[in-house]
Amino acid sequence: MTQKSNQSAAFQKLNDEIDFWRAEDRKVRFFLRDDDAVSDTPPLRKLVELSKRSDTPILLAIIPKMADKSLAKLVQETPLVTPAAHGYAHISHTPQGYKPCELDRFRPLEVVIEEMKAARAKLAGLVGEGISALLVPPWNRIHEEIIPHVGDAGFAGISAKGWQRDPTPVPMVNVHMDIIHWSGGVTGRDREWIYLNLAENLEAARKSGWKPVGILTHHLVHDDRAWDSLEAIFEIAKQCEAKWIAADDLLAERQA
Ligand SMILES: [Zn+2]
Repeated sequence: MTQKSNQSAAFQKLNDEIDFWRAEDRKVRFFLRDDDAVSDTPPLRKLVELSKRSDTPILLAIIPKMADKSLAKLVQETPLVTPAAHGYAHISHTPQGYKPCELDRFRPLEVVIEEMKAARAKLAGLVGEGISALLVPPWNRIHEEIIPHVGDAGFAGISAKGWQRDPTPVPMVNVHMDIIHWSGGVTGRDREWIYLNLAENLEAARKSGWKPVGILTHHLVHDDRAWDSLEAIFEIAKQCEAKWIAADDLLAERQA
């Protein structure tokens, strides 16, 4: 990337990191996941339009219990969108004092497995063919006891958040960067944060074997700054000739 004298330290750090990839002739790869879809809404339309501009596939995490026919229609009309089950009802079943979790160890295992099956069936019934083999846990949280059983409900992998250090019983296609600052008033991250965070995640990706970096959005809560954060990521991706890849293709890569 070209460097100007007035650029910030964060932007410089990102440029330096991209240079590492260039020097080794490695292509930066990203994937995009968007969570909490239930209906065809103007923000979802906006996300789809943005992704079309840069030919970016979206793993759209849909709450099966709440999803409606308008969403099904949008999904069916948009080949770039792959629908995925985002839990079943996005309801936590943990006791007070525990972090929220729908794929939890507090209910009997069979109940959770049946619910995962119902999630897949409801989504398939709504949108038809082509749903993702990935289960997207609400709050990016699935208790360890549940992970080996996602296959019992027809899922081949999980998309949660963070870099996975240890081997997992099923493949994980995680996101790494959430453009929303949840604890800071549910607002978009600013560009400086985006540059720094992208640099850090690309470094982690490089050090774990030139892995792809997953970007997480939540179209329903995007303010102007969140949309700008996403634009910034698309700009960077374009400048460093990154490849946007579908999450299920990454899953296939993990399985190979
Ligand atoms: Zn969610």
